[in-house]
Amino acid sequence: MVTVVNRLDRTVRHPEKAHRADTETVRKPDWIRVKAPTSPVWRQTRDVVRENGLVTVCEEAGCPNIGECWSKKHATFMIMGDTCTRACAFCNVRTGLPQPLDPAEPAKVGDAVKTLGLEHVVVTSVDRDDLADGGANHIAETIRAIRERTPGTTIEVLTPDFLRKPGALEAVVAARPDVFNHNLETVPSRYLTVRPGARYYHSLRLLDQVKMIDPTLFTKSGIMVGLGETRNEVLQLMDDLRAADVDFITIGQYLQPSRKHHPVIEYVTPQAFKAYETIAYAKGFLMVSASPLTRSSYHAGDDFVRLRAARLAQQPTRTVERDAAL
Ligand code: SF4
Repeated sequence: MVTVVNRLDRTVRHPEKAHRADTETVRKPDWIRVKAPTSPVWRQTRDVVRENGLVTVCEEAGCPNIGECWSKKHATFMIMGDTCTRACAFCNVRTGLPQPLDPAEPAKVGDAVKTLGLEHVVVTSVDRDDLADGGANHIAETIRAIRERTPGTTIEVLTPDFLRKPGALEAVVAARPDVFNHNLETVPSRYLTVRPGARYYHSLRLLDQVKMIDPTLFTKSGIMVGLGETRNEVLQLMDDLRAADVDFITIGQYLQPSRKHHPVIEYVTPQAFKAYETIAYAKGFLMVSASPLTRSSYHAGDDFVRLRAARLAQQPTRTVERDAAL
């Protein structure tokens, strides 16, 4: 039996999964292979992360894109500690009882963004069900700290679902990130197995509410495929997201972090990803990223520029449609 332990303190990384039987692993297809990180810029990014005592989801989730992203100074900061209060079957982030929040963390993230000279930054977090506001005010503080130091940097937050935390969502929206991202992760039929602590319709409603509170924000959501979902379920999920006026969808291949995690049911072919992309654009998303290595934050800076351009390009059409209706 495999036991996954934390690198530094050798404690069990996912206690809730430790008793489970090991699952079979399937050899990755050629289209999943990535290069090992080596570049000097990759090293510089790593040094800034270490020097500021920051945590990144790139490392915690074992993301396959770390070589490419960090070589472009693109790291996704994971705030509110390295320990999550949920225990999703797909996720490699350590689980357990988290430490208290670090009040200096928003400033440290702001300083790192400034040092790296980032034009666009993605900030995500662990789930903090132990906090009364789910950590919403800490996320809002972090947005403000970045704005103070580098007002030109566009900010994308990838938030938890704030389940049963009244007022939390509103606090984050009030801090006015440029992009509000919340991942559905998978189709509703897979929730009980893949994301048991969350509720599909709650997550969908959260995205809908963001747009209702502030229609100028961009909303974004992502899923993994290869978890046993059907194609029709993915298409229905796209319709659900469009009904909530979500602008940007990301679709990537699920990769199994360890033999204790949910197995990969299928490696979806690049052609099938291309078909998802075509359908998603036809359904009205402003921006679509669908490929085996797509992650919510993959190429987020370049995609934000395209997202903004797509909205601008749509505006004259919207005005004409409105005028015609009058
Ligand atoms: S895709 Fe996102 S999580 Fe993965 S390395 Fe790039 S920035 Fe980090």
